[in-house]
Amino acid sequence: MIDKILGPKYDAYLGFIRRQMIKDQIEARGVKDLRVLAAMDKVCRHCFVTEDMVSRAYEDYPLPIAREQTISQPYIVALMSELLGLKGAEKVLEIGTGSGYQTAVLAELAAEVRTVELFPDLALAARARLEKLGYRNISLRAGDGAQGWQEHAPYDAIMVTCAAPDIPPALLAQLKPGGRLVIPVGSEPQDLLLVKNTPSGAERETVCQVRFVPLLKPE
Ligand code: SAH
Repeated sequence: MIDKILGPKYDAYLGFIRRQMIKDQIEARGVKDLRVLAAMDKVCRHCFVTEDMVSRAYEDYPLPIAREQTISQPYIVALMSELLGLKGAEKVLEIGTGSGYQTAVLAELAAEVRTVELFPDLALAARARLEKLGYRNISLRAGDGAQGWQEHAPYDAIMVTCAAPDIPPALLAQLKPGGRLVIPVGSEPQDLLLVKNTPSGAERETVCQVRFVPLLKPE
C-alpha cells in the first residue's frame, strides 16, 4: 500500500526507517562499532526479504525466507558482526548464507567473505541477489557448513548463523591463531559463544541467549 502511495519516494522512505532501526534497535542496545553501524546503514535489508515482507524489513524480528529458514533479526546481525572485531583486511567465513543479508554486512566489513549454505536453491538465490547489489568480494558454495571451507582456510574470523549442538571441530581447525569465531550453541534458547583462538587454546565466552534455526545435517 505505502509503496503505491509513495511511488519512487519509497526507497527514500525505506532508507529513513533503516536509520531509525539503527538508532532504536542497534545503538540503543549498545552496539558501538562505527564500521558496523555504517554497514547496517549501507545494506538494504529489504533487498533480502520476499516481496510480501518488504514493508516489515526494518522491524525488530527475524523474518521467514524460503525452506522454513529465516533472515536474522537486525540487532543480532549487528551484534555478531561487532563481536568479530573486523578492521577491513580480514578473510571471513560464514556458515548459513540464507538470504545473504549477513553475508553482505560482512562484505562491507572485511576484505573477503566465503559463505556456505546447505540448500542449493537458497545459495543460488543469495548469489544472484549479492551479484545484483554489486558485491565482488563474496564467494558462495552449497554444502555442509559443519565442514567449513578447507581450500581457503585459515580464516581471521568465522560466523555461524545456525545453531549447533557444539562447535564443529572443522571450524575451529580453520581459524587462524588470534582469530575469532561466533556461534550459537546448545538447545533453544542457545548460548551465543564468542571463541578466541589464543596460544593457550580456544577461549569461550557466552555473550547472551539467542534463538537460531538449527544447523542441519545433509541428507
Ligand atoms: N545469515 C542468514 C541467516 C539464515 S538462517 C541471513 O542473514 O539470512 C540459517 C541458514 O543456515 C539457513 O539458510 C539454513 O539453510 C542454513 N543451514 C542449516 N544447516 C546448514 C549446514 N549444515 N550448512 C550450511 N548451512 C546450513
